[in-house]
Amino acid sequence: MPNSGKNIGFVSLGCPKNLVDSERILSRLRAEGYDLIGSYEEADLVIVNTCGFIDSAVEESLEAIGEALQENGKVIVTGCLGKDESRIRTAYPKVLAVTGPHAYEEVVEAVHDQIPAPHDPFTSLLPPEGIKLTPRHYAYLKISEGCNHSCSFCIIPDLRGSLVSRPFGDVMLEAERLVESGVRELLVVSQDTSAYGVDLKYRPDFWQGRPVSSKLKDLAAAMGELQAWVRMHYVYPYPHVDDLIPLMADGHILPYLDMPLQHGNLRVLKQMRRPAATEKVLSRIARWRRSCPELTLRSTFIVGFPGETEAEFEDLLAFLQEAQLDRVGCFAYSPVDGAAANQLPGALPLEVREERQARFMQVQAEISRQRLQAKVGREMVVLIDEVNQKQLIARSSADAPEIDGRVFIPGGWELEPGDFIKVKITAATAHDLQAEPIEVEETEVD
Ligand code: SF4
Repeated sequence: MPNSGKNIGFVSLGCPKNLVDSERILSRLRAEGYDLIGSYEEADLVIVNTCGFIDSAVEESLEAIGEALQENGKVIVTGCLGKDESRIRTAYPKVLAVTGPHAYEEVVEAVHDQIPAPHDPFTSLLPPEGIKLTPRHYAYLKISEGCNHSCSFCIIPDLRGSLVSRPFGDVMLEAERLVESGVRELLVVSQDTSAYGVDLKYRPDFWQGRPVSSKLKDLAAAMGELQAWVRMHYVYPYPHVDDLIPLMADGHILPYLDMPLQHGNLRVLKQMRRPAATEKVLSRIARWRRSCPELTLRSTFIVGFPGETEAEFEDLLAFLQEAQLDRVGCFAYSPVDGAAANQLPGALPLEVREERQARFMQVQAEISRQRLQAKVGREMVVLIDEVNQKQLIARSSADAPEIDGRVFIPGGWELEPGDFIKVKITAATAHDLQAEPIEVEETEVD
């Protein structure tokens, strides 16, 4: 495509929350008639949406800016790293504009300054669902920005500010539009999903003519009425999370919680300044599983935190054995520029942090393997992600896209990505499942 004076290149880095920001910026630009272009040469300018979470993400972001400048020359920087404008300007004085995270308006204004908005009624038509960077059948839905906590290893509140929840009606309108446009799975994301509505003081609202309050439970219940799977990410174990479990047990939302627990020892959790750091997590997990045996729990942990003793690390391993989580990620602690944890005494050598990470993963791998193995012989509904001649690649309620496992089904069926089918699980590997279809007609989702 020749340079038309309205072609925008876009590089999106970082987490799903950043991806949602990218989608919003692109939706807005597309609505105004700009085109999204996949090459530096043909773009009239390039937007780089950066991540500043850990040092390696900062490096990756700086490299992406450098590459875009070298290949195209006109670059606007946004996202978490954009908060540190002087660092970017020092490295790359030629960038056109720098904005912080979720600054959609400022990014669009910076684009206008460089390339006035085209006025062509045929190209200005915005698909009602906006522009998505995920496959057509699933979408991330961000319900709030920022975070009110101050975990000592994290600089997100400095980068993204305090919690700002989106109004209930706004979120539901976006959810409805996504489902109407063919999305079959909504992935609910934010920095702290359980805190939804705290800043709104849980204010009353109306949805479909009935009163609701701006609380996660009401929001989840309303989303559960749409014809799509609803999957909850970044849910901290506050007491009111208990209210979500009946919605999961009844099939309103997926029986899946992505709950970053970070550690299993109370002293370390206190040093981490984690929200909801109580010894009651294990008993609550047991209670949730009694009410909703289908519940899948995913979590992430940090090992080798400053001052973590061998005994505290072993507490964490014992916690894992008791919690029997389904899916787990583990990071060896690494200092993040500007994080309070850098001042804590007792920094551990890299070998110790990495050795603990390896031991952790060994323990958890066996737990995850056994939990997957227990699914062999069961029947379940899966969502098709990919179809090729050899096989269908799908996911069950236990599998979030990109981070969890997949369900492989022999090919030869007239099905498409976004279809639901019922399958019987025939085998399990360390991460994935194999299955045979038992109902090849598309299955209705609740
Ligand atoms: S809850 Fe903690 S780790 Fe999560 S964004 Fe807030 S400060 Fe960071």
